[in-house]
Amino acid sequence: MKIAVYPGSFDPCTNGHLSIIRRTAAVFDRVYVAILNNNSKNPLFTLDERIDFLTRITRDLPNVEIDCFSGMLIDYVHAKNAQVIIRGLRAVSDFEYEFQMALTNRKLAPDVETLFMATEARYSYLSSSIVKEVATLGGCLDDLVPDEIREDILQKTNKMGVL
Ligand code: ADP
Repeated sequence: MKIAVYPGSFDPCTNGHLSIIRRTAAVFDRVYVAILNNNSKNPLFTLDERIDFLTRITRDLPNVEIDCFSGMLIDYVHAKNAQVIIRGLRAVSDFEYEFQMALTNRKLAPDVETLFMATEARYSYLSSSIVKEVATLGGCLDDLVPDEIREDILQKTNKMGVL
């Protein structure tokens, strides 16, 4: 069994995340989408909301499981018997941080590989922060997030009024 872990904050998940999940699911037997449960990141969406969004948009992918973790990513990867961490790469700006994290994880767990998947060009500008900003300012989320969760994101940001 080839098992991959795709970790992130997913606050909220976007079409860019979904594209990486779909493409990973096509290559691996099993994919754990692992939401980092770390309040110091101050997420806008609760853990339950983020789990619900990801569960709804991956309903048609039987080999994808939505989960959460806290603490060290490599401990979670080992616990799931996974061999690979997947990270998405957008522009050059992602590279330095991702490279540092990959080398750190490799130092801590040489048996785990980090694989980078290049974004689809049409999502290369897309991030959770941009989605929150557009939603808060009353903009249109078409093509930025999956249709199934668009209204829930707008409702929450309308209620909050601020980022
Ligand atoms: P984190 O807080 O760990 O960076 P994110 O939820 O922002 O979590 O992102 C999770 C992963 O998804 C990261 O590897 C990030 O580079 C990748 N990612 C985010 N947006 C996109 C996108 N539009 N295209 C491809 N990968 C993306």
